[in-house]
Amino acid sequence: MDARSAALVRANFRAVLDAPHGAERLISAFYGHLFAENPALRELFPPTMEMQAKRVTTAVLFVLDNLEHWDRAQAFLEQLARDHRKYGVEAAHYDLAGRALLAALRTYHGRDWTVGLEEGWTDVAILISASMAIGANSDKSQPYWEATVVGHRRVLEDLAIVRLQSDSPIPYLAGQYVPVMLPQRPKMWRYLSPAIPSNPYGEIEFHVRKVQSGWVSTAVVNETAVGDRWQIAGPLGNLHIDRESGRDVLLIGAGTGIAPLRAQLIEMSRSGVNPRVHFFIGGRYPCDLYDVENMWQLSQSNPWLTVVPVCEQKTNPWWYPHAPSEEPYGMHRRLIGNLGAVVASFGAWADRQIQIAGSATMIADTRRALMAVGTPESIIQSDPVG
Ligand SMILES: Cc1cc2nc3c(=O)[nH]c(=O)nc-3n(C[C@H](O)[C@H](O)[C@H](O)COP(=O)(O)OP(=O)(O)OC[C@H]3O[C@@H](n4cnc5c(N)ncnc54)[C@H](O)[C@@H]3O)c2cc1C
Repeated sequence: MDARSAALVRANFRAVLDAPHGAERLISAFYGHLFAENPALRELFPPTMEMQAKRVTTAVLFVLDNLEHWDRAQAFLEQLARDHRKYGVEAAHYDLAGRALLAALRTYHGRDWTVGLEEGWTDVAILISASMAIGANSDKSQPYWEATVVGHRRVLEDLAIVRLQSDSPIPYLAGQYVPVMLPQRPKMWRYLSPAIPSNPYGEIEFHVRKVQSGWVSTAVVNETAVGDRWQIAGPLGNLHIDRESGRDVLLIGAGTGIAPLRAQLIEMSRSGVNPRVHFFIGGRYPCDLYDVENMWQLSQSNPWLTVVPVCEQKTNPWWYPHAPSEEPYGMHRRLIGNLGAVVASFGAWADRQIQIAGSATMIADTRRALMAVGTPESIIQSDPVG
């Protein structure tokens, strides 16, 4: 595909995204064509499709932005296709999706559709569907594992720790996340980060916080019971500690964002020699730091680890039913303030490798606070959000 054609397609897609409800209209036309031509494919998708527009447009935008660095786009598409095996999507389906994308673009643009757009978008559709077919065919491992819930503990009104035993061990690396589906919400896969490293016994633990009106997180916290069978698909993500770099480590986690950091720390605790780690755990109220005592205990037997709790408020809200004297061990060392601001008040941490994990807002705020004091962006890792 030549540079002129790539620029034309990119500009065209950005115009769609900038138009009022442009993305929703295009993606609704895409699924309309896909399901009208191939009704059996509707079965593979969840009943509610409201999140799909954002997901599909984000993926297409990433590909268009990387047309000149095709190895990056191809790696992304292949990974996406390997991940989609959990829905039952097969290599042959990507050709159908490519055709539906073209048909949707023609419908969306109507009389504004041009020969140049037809040619450019045809090339893009073929590139996308071919790369995804390669990805789908390249992975012969099972698309997902089954696991039984063996424990469900509600540690806060809106937060549960769920322990499962998988039928066979799931080969994820500490710091990665996995797509998860529970029986109460069929076909609605969500990413969760295991809070312990993978082990030969198939034990796995997730920390899940309810988001308001959330389909899956509310079901995990309110409805999950011992004996439920979950499906867990192949791991994704690249949060990791680079031991070769010789750099010490700064970990910053808030809420259930501590899970992937915790998994890496537990794994490190099995090894005799480790880089120095500072772990800042943040929350709004002291009670939000639900796991601080475990992390504190880990630090007591691992001198390379320093745990620093940070809360925005000094005391728990009035409705939290425990007395201050019942606060977990470790909280006596807490610092008060915004997590990013507190971490940045110690300096740029420029000699570290840094991981930030939490909500999209927390990650963006903390990244900004660090960069404002001179932290190079290249040493900061975080997972994709949303
Ligand atoms: C890499 C990665 C790892 C993750 N790990 C964990 C984890 O270990 N534990 C955990 O509890 N969650 C984790 N999440 C978030 C999780 O995947 C879901 O997005 C979240 O549980 C909400 O799903 P839901 O079905 O309840 O909400 P949905 O029904 O999908 O969304 C309902 C509403 O909430 C909004 N919303 C969706 N997600 C969030 C969010 N995270 N924060 C605020 N608003 C949101 C939506 O925009 C929508 O308006 C992770 C997400 C990513 C991308």
